Amino acid sequence: MTTATNMTGAPGHAAAIPSDGLAALDPHRIRQDFPILDQQVNGKPLVYLDNAATTQKPRAVIDAISNYYLNNNANVHRGVHTLSQRATDDYEVGREAVRRFINAPDVNEVIYVRGTTEGLNLVAHSYGRKYFKAGDEVIITGMEHHSNIVPWQILRQEIGIRLRVVPFNDDGELLMDEYESLLNDRTRLVSVVHQSNALGTVNPIAAMAELAHARGIPVLVDAAQSVPHMPVDVQALGADFLTFSGHKLYGPTGIGALWGRSDLLNDMPPYQSGGEMIRSVTFEETIYNTLPHKFEAGTPDIAGAIGLGAAIEYLESIGMERIAAYEQALLRYGTEKLGDIEGVRLIGTAEDKGGILSFHMESAHPHDIGTILDAEGIAVRTGHHCAQPVMARYGVPATVRASLAFYNTTDDIDALVTAIDRVIEVFG
Ligand code: PLP
Repeated sequence: MTTATNMTGAPGHAAAIPSDGLAALDPHRIRQDFPILDQQVNGKPLVYLDNAATTQKPRAVIDAISNYYLNNNANVHRGVHTLSQRATDDYEVGREAVRRFINAPDVNEVIYVRGTTEGLNLVAHSYGRKYFKAGDEVIITGMEHHSNIVPWQILRQEIGIRLRVVPFNDDGELLMDEYESLLNDRTRLVSVVHQSNALGTVNPIAAMAELAHARGIPVLVDAAQSVPHMPVDVQALGADFLTFSGHKLYGPTGIGALWGRSDLLNDMPPYQSGGEMIRSVTFEETIYNTLPHKFEAGTPDIAGAIGLGAAIEYLESIGMERIAAYEQALLRYGTEKLGDIEGVRLIGTAEDKGGILSFHMESAHPHDIGTILDAEGIAVRTGHHCAQPVMARYGVPATVRASLAFYNTTDDIDALVTAIDRVIEVFG
């Protein structure tokens, strides 16, 4: 696999991260690795601020995928021939990269899935169906993405479980006392988002896990928005399951990972069935394969897994701490600039938050704002961000969301501010 060179302009991993976070890396050098960013949209230089929806892909990822299709394409785990062995090796290199990236104890605990949505569904439908019964409770928070709400509602319909929801304050911070009081003898699982996609809030997972574990309750972490922007260590967090999507991590769509403790995964039934997930099949009996294959039925997204591995290697070459320091500084810059604009209401002002600038303007509908911004070459997301309960909590139908990545610059924020001034000119 291709390993990226040091993109930071700094002497390497070990170099200290400057206290001025904006100097933690050189975004202009990094942008050279992302060919798509160098284009005009509607006659203006592209300003890509929709990173919470999906991130752009560095050349290292695109090259790894093309290399697989150009040179190594074959099915994995099935052939003795050379191409199949090469494909299998690279596919498994990707798995080991995921293990390393989230500091999982064992590579066999890393299951490839389509993305966070499938990871959450896998736990709900395998773990939930086996262990939950009527009256049991699952705790989520008020700021979950729909993918961490609907699977539990399906189990509520099927089994009769109860869904308990941790509320949050006006800044978008969880009410930890309320969380603690929701934990009880009927709680079977806590399933919580690490970083909210709608608000940017980073939730105190380690503290939540400690409280849950004191009662023997496992914790599932939706890390879709955290893994791409900060170092994430499943052991330090005290997670029991954690899932994320490759496409938000500068990797391809259609691939992601679910990590789970092997004792839990070993006792769970398969989620899907067919080839690969079996050790032997007769018409009388099927014996399931060991981890991780038990949960990987059928031909997987081989190119996706290889691309995900390349994305992780690329990020490792820069360093997640450096990325986090830079994005935090950019967030502070953006928060200040947007906060200065009269008529802009920032939604999500937690003390601990990632690079999400969600806002609402009384004078203009978010979709109209998005259209004006697009005319200026600026890509943002407008809508409910698959978190309708969050919108309801703030009494707005939708927000405009600018979401940051480490290839964004202060110039991008300035362009956003200028375009919002244009919105004010049009709508008042
Ligand atoms: N969870 C969070 C917090 C998200 O932001 C998203 C996507 O926006 C998801 C889950 C679902 O991710 P995917 O659509 O990649 O499965």
